[in-house]
Amino acid sequence: MTRSRVHKMLRNPYYIGLVTYDGVQYPGRHEALISMSTFEAVQEVLDQRSIGNEKPVSRTHYLKGVVACGLCGSRLGISINRGNGGTYAYFFCLGRHGHAKNGCPLPYVPVHEVEAEVEKMWRAFQPPADHLNQVEVEVLALIELVRTQQERVVAAQRVRLQRVEAEERKLLAAYYAEAVSVSLLKDEQDRLRKTRTAAQDQIDRLTLELDATRAGLDAALSLLRRCSDAYVISNDQTRRALCFAFFERIFVGPDGITGANAREPFAQLANRGLPDEVRSFRQKAVIDQVAADAQDDRSGRPEMGSPASLVSDADWNRGPFPGPGSNLSPLVGVAGFEPTTSASRTQRSTKLSHTP
Ligand SMILES: [Zn+2]
Repeated sequence: MTRSRVHKMLRNPYYIGLVTYDGVQYPGRHEALISMSTFEAVQEVLDQRSIGNEKPVSRTHYLKGVVACGLCGSRLGISINRGNGGTYAYFFCLGRHGHAKNGCPLPYVPVHEVEAEVEKMWRAFQPPADHLNQVEVEVLALIELVRTQQERVVAAQRVRLQRVEAEERKLLAAYYAEAVSVSLLKDEQDRLRKTRTAAQDQIDRLTLELDATRAGLDAALSLLRRCSDAYVISNDQTRRALCFAFFERIFVGPDGITGANAREPFAQLANRGLPDEVRSFRQKAVIDQVAADAQDDRSGRPEMGSPASLVSDADWNRGPFPGPGSNLSPLVGVAGFEPTTSASRTQRSTKLSHTP
């Protein structure tokens, strides 16, 4: 992985939940992979070094702000001490030495030791290729399952669009036959236009969404596959950006790194149990879908094209995907697998009451 590739990924607006389509950024319906403030911090860090190609002005250490005390949780400060013919930099606990004076026993830790420990931490965090390959296979299978589910919705919306067009033709015919007043014509055209826009929006959104999910998964996995290697070859600025993109906090104890809070989706993608979890989630979803289809067959599902076969709230909610609170969240959220209960849900069309 080259430095410029690392850069390109960190610049990807997908990470803040924006989807780029034809060069325009749209808010994605997936949850933001990293928060806007993190993304902006990353951009700022990356921008610093592009000014005039000069060496960036480094007023502080690249780990400052992300490293915290492994004993009391306070942030770490930096102290530069001169003596014995040299300059020595240390991280120290701001809880112990700052205003709080909490009595934390963390000693001063030489900066170069923390740097080396953080490199070791990245090696431990980068999951083995086997794990990531399994994650990829399982999540892609889940995405395909969602795609088949969404294709039903899209098909139903296309039927709805055809109905709207037919209604528009009938309406105009009625108007020319002087069976409909101008004001009723206007009202009805307005209503039909709204219905058409809602159907088209839903088709566009669903079509765009899974592709964005797929792209986001690819980007996150490829960053994760090489994150440790990327960190080692990166300069201080990019190291900082990588630390902030992947971790909320890295905890430093007297004898090394005691833990780190990884951000999503990386924490979840690196989770050992994820492939099994996704697999059983998908299998259950398939079983539920089969059961729901069997139920439809027994109750006599109406034919496509009849008014009742337009997408109803019941169709819309019956998908195999559980509501918020699933233990697969937030990956499920990231991948757009939450139930489709967004505000943009289309309204059911009503029949023209005056159709001649
Ligand atoms: Zn402390």
